Amino acid sequence: MIITKKKSVDSVLKSLEGVRDKRIYLFGCNSCAEQCKTGGPQELTEMARTLEDNGFEVIGSSLVDETCYNQLVRREFRRKEEIRRADAIVVLACGAGVKTVASNADASQPVFPALDTLFLASVERYGRFFEGCSLCGECVLDRTGGICPHTECPKGLLNGPCGGVVGGMCEVDTSNECAWVRIFKRLEKQNRLDVMKRFSPPKDHSGSLRPRNVCLR
Ligand code: SF4
Ligand code: SF4
Repeated sequence: MIITKKKSVDSVLKSLEGVRDKRIYLFGCNSCAEQCKTGGPQELTEMARTLEDNGFEVIGSSLVDETCYNQLVRREFRRKEEIRRADAIVVLACGAGVKTVASNADASQPVFPALDTLFLASVERYGRFFEGCSLCGECVLDRTGGICPHTECPKGLLNGPCGGVVGGMCEVDTSNECAWVRIFKRLEKQNRLDVMKRFSPPKDHSGSLRPRNVCLR
């Protein structure tokens, strides 16, 4: 899941300064942003009210199942002619959702993000998320017991702990157990400690040059 947080109302209003007193269309996302309570039905209603209170006319909204999914967004543009009439579009979704809406909008139609996109998370339960992967493009979890040193060690160390481990805890945030201590414990239980002796070379970032694209067909 992609984790987002709301931009401040002031920040959203500031970004809309050039289209003050104009018609706005809203997009939400009924997937990740709904789970984060940043872009679901309630947040769309709140954003519409905020914009109306500040002199804008909200002429409609769409709550797309997945706003990063181009076919779903394109279908909204086809079905709802008011989107074309909007002077601007405000999107309550992650950056990928904003980009998808922007790529369907007319080139003259500005599209504004209402959220900040933070990280890719594992979901412990509704409303509780943990960052577990930094999308590095070269996964090493096979030799780290499923714990990502790139993400869960604040220094991103790939070959064992730094010298700052104190009583098994991380020196950067002493409330967190050192990622490499957890990796050791996990591999020990799996009787696979030998894999820790393997040297992990520096990441080959040429495999994650941006923008990244995958085409399965
Ligand atoms: S090593 Fe970590 S950051 Fe890279 S793909 Fe695997 S989980 Fe993601
Ligand atoms: S104490 Fe462990 S988790 Fe913290 S920075 Fe050092 S190696 Fe990484």
